[in-house]
Amino acid sequence: MNSPKICKNFIEGEWVDAVSGAVFEDRNPADQSEIVAVFPRSDSTDVTHAVEAAAAAFPRWRLTPAPRRAEILFHAAQHLEKLKDELAAEMTREMGKILDETRGDVQEAIDMAYFMAGEGRRMYGQTTPSELPSKFAMSLRSPLGVCGMITPWNFPMAIPAWKILPALICGNTVVIKPAEDTPLSCYHLVRILAEAGLPRGVVNLVAGNGAQAGEAIVVHPGVKMISFTGSSEVGRHVAERCAPEFKRLHLEMGGKNVIMVMEDGNLDLAVDGALWGAFGTTGQRCTAASRIVVHKEVYVEFLEHLVERVRALRVGDGLDPATQMGPLINRDALDKVSRYVQIGIQEGARLLSGGHALSDSPHANGFFFEPTVFANVQPGMRIAQEEIFGPVVSVIPCDSFEAAIEIGNNVRYGLSASIYTQDVNRAFVAMREMETGVFYVNAPTIGAEIHLPFGGTKQTGNGHREAGVAALDTFSEWKSVYVDYSGRLQRAQIDS
Ligand code: NAD
Repeated sequence: MNSPKICKNFIEGEWVDAVSGAVFEDRNPADQSEIVAVFPRSDSTDVTHAVEAAAAAFPRWRLTPAPRRAEILFHAAQHLEKLKDELAAEMTREMGKILDETRGDVQEAIDMAYFMAGEGRRMYGQTTPSELPSKFAMSLRSPLGVCGMITPWNFPMAIPAWKILPALICGNTVVIKPAEDTPLSCYHLVRILAEAGLPRGVVNLVAGNGAQAGEAIVVHPGVKMISFTGSSEVGRHVAERCAPEFKRLHLEMGGKNVIMVMEDGNLDLAVDGALWGAFGTTGQRCTAASRIVVHKEVYVEFLEHLVERVRALRVGDGLDPATQMGPLINRDALDKVSRYVQIGIQEGARLLSGGHALSDSPHANGFFFEPTVFANVQPGMRIAQEEIFGPVVSVIPCDSFEAAIEIGNNVRYGLSASIYTQDVNRAFVAMREMETGVFYVNAPTIGAEIHLPFGGTKQTGNGHREAGVAALDTFSEWKSVYVDYSGRLQRAQIDS
């Protein structure tokens, strides 16, 4: 067992303790006896220092040419690439997901750094004809100022990267608070950005919990925008706190994603997609497939195959290459999942597989739960409506393609959906009708790529998007510019 890393906040280019001296532990969810790292438990005093540092760095960073900003991001991408396996292993220790997945998480940061470095030489605005002769019309992007970022624990490096990198290329400075369960991966990302040449104060990291450090960032008047990813409950609270000052706000929140399996779909493919969509990252993805709506003609066959595969899943420490599903993140998550299994049973759903926490020998010190399948789930049941965020999938029978679409849409969330069908017409109709920000055909609800917009509708998001060029819209302001080169007084000027 490695000894714990002693980590600090990063403020104005220096690694510093919380002013109060308080700390908290970052423990391994697969083995609670292992302390992975110790972090400062920051409060509003530390946040104020970080915001002041970011505000002081902003005027210079804003005027640094975007291609120069891009060079730093490019170097960071190269550095991340070199350290990928090491970073992935540390992430598995703090977050629990298997190594293949943590490598993927680091890869997203690498991809985003290269992509945003490319944007340093694009960041296109518009030039457009003017209504008047000898007049030039164009639009260009301006940075917002200090961006406050609050991130969840399930993609500990990817999500901070999805926020920090587009914000930086647009010329903003940053104060980020990573989730208290997984601050180490964000710490590494910030360290690597600093080593790649980021000037002092441009990115500041403040570790701590939501009620203290998170809240202090949200309400600080020096923070011009908040980018939040987390639960819809906390997102609503953050929105309320931003509302009085009309603070710009980007929200990415919960999901209740659906895979629809039609009678003409390739069943092997659908079972495979359902398995990884539902149980990848132990079901702790915002895009996890927690509902599978299956046409009654293939319902029994689909369930048989799915349950067989689920029972064979190997649950254990994500560092073991044989493991296919790691632990839940913490005790609260384990309790929540156990509670929802009881709710499902009480609602009359049929528990086909799993349903229990694992406490035998290799699992005794961690938060392990069996991969769980409920059948005969009715669309209105709580297990089919509420985000469980664990390895529990509800299989819902349906009579038709139209019914599948209706069931699929009938939740408060709108992040990701998918359909398995060989009928191209159905695939396109479903693409048009599903009220989600992400949609897949013959693939599970997971697997977003960083160069397309990512985000959700309804209670998943508030209309902004991360990733792709769309992220630039989230982290910049449009300015429209008109240049009159006729040298003549125009009507409006004469009148005024
Ligand atoms: P959470 O809402 O509990 O916490 C998210 C972050 O908010 C953490 O950093 C936390 O410290 C902070 N926070 C808590 N209270 C706060 C407050 N009062 N003020 C400011 N910040 C506060 O969510 P979580 O458990 O970390 O993550 C799981 C949730 O995140 C799930 O609902 C999941 O669907 C969602 N998620 C969404 C996306 C997406 O892109 N839509 C991606 C990943 C996770």
